[in-house]
Amino acid sequence: MKIHEYQAKELLKGYGIPIQDGVTIDDASQSGAALDRVSDELGAGQFVIKAQVHAGGRGKGGGVKFSPDRESALENIGRILGMTLVTHQTGAEGRLVKKVMVAQALDIAKEFYAAITLDRARGMDVFMVSSEGGMEIEEVAKTAPEKIVKEAVVPGFGLRPFQARNLAAALGLDGPAARQAVGMFQKLYRLYRELDCSIVEINPLIVTEQGDLVALDAKINFDDNALYLHPDVAAMRDLDEEDPAEVEAGKYHLNYIKLDGNVGCMVNGAGLAMATMDIIKQRGGSPANFLDVGGGANVETVKNGFRIILSDPNVKAVLINIFGGIVRCDRIANGIIEAVRELDLNVPVVVRLAGTNAEVAKELLANSGVSIISADSFEDAADKVVAAAKGIY
Ligand code: GDP
Ligand code: MN
Repeated sequence: MKIHEYQAKELLKGYGIPIQDGVTIDDASQSGAALDRVSDELGAGQFVIKAQVHAGGRGKGGGVKFSPDRESALENIGRILGMTLVTHQTGAEGRLVKKVMVAQALDIAKEFYAAITLDRARGMDVFMVSSEGGMEIEEVAKTAPEKIVKEAVVPGFGLRPFQARNLAAALGLDGPAARQAVGMFQKLYRLYRELDCSIVEINPLIVTEQGDLVALDAKINFDDNALYLHPDVAAMRDLDEEDPAEVEAGKYHLNYIKLDGNVGCMVNGAGLAMATMDIIKQRGGSPANFLDVGGGANVETVKNGFRIILSDPNVKAVLINIFGGIVRCDRIANGIIEAVRELDLNVPVVVRLAGTNAEVAKELLANSGVSIISADSFEDAADKVVAAAKGIY
């Protein structure tokens, strides 16, 4: 799960980590009051207006605007709130900005990068920093990877003081700033562990002209499987930022991820789903989604899966590829028949059922009168659905 910058900053604040603070609003009528509060409580005379969306690269896309006075701040709020922000992470369609953070502007002396994530290859969390902070960390990783310094954290020990000192030294910090960095890095790692984060990223981490270390931006992602342990974090979920079909699928415990092809896929088991997507590609097609209906698929699951697949206007044909192991194929067939009758299908559906009661299932489908293209083998199914998506059936 992802959260907004302003929410991530609240969490950092709770751990005693200095942040660029501000007030977040969702309506322009709140602008005056927000500016008053940022001026009065934070002593700010200058502001930064920051679009709150779950995507990075906001600065480059025009979603972060420095505002030297109240008038320009009001103007920038008006401009950013309600805009469709396009960044390298939103895709061409962009993201509607529903909230903006009215932040205090800080004087930046230096911009660094700091992040924590799991290094799966090492089986350890890794804390990385770079003196090349700001907006282009992907570029640094590509062209000058030696400028990213890493400390792997031994499970159970936490980020140890000497590691935090190494990281601070890698940023060229000494004296009070180095001491601040050591304290901050240890708190950041504690936050990452205690809240079951999958990523904590501060870009940029700045040194102000006054010599203070401050998190100017913050991005935190969480391990969904641990969210039940953290109701306060779970409550930060913003459904507006998620794909509606994925949200809907989540309600039925369907594992759905939208992709950009035109062959809708309904499959049971993640492995079979991956293999199905591969073979569709191999046979010249392109999957519109990943959908794992799970081991215990029944009539309801099949119907819900269908509805979700068909809510994507790109879908030109559907492939149902189910292996009857735990679930019996005849039950799936009944689900398909009911769903097709109820849902007013206007795209061809190719069905391949294998495993327990596959023969019975085939007969049910053949005698049902619903228009379904039956397939025998995996390859046959892929060829048929790719052809169907091209309008050949
Ligand atoms: P991102 O583009 O989505 O990563 O958004 P950030 O919050 O990182 O802001 C983008 C850039 O705006 C930062 O890298 C800074 O260079 C700049 N910026 C943000 N806040 C301030 C500020 O208070 N003062 C100054 N001088 N620049 C700022
Ligand atoms: Mn940033």
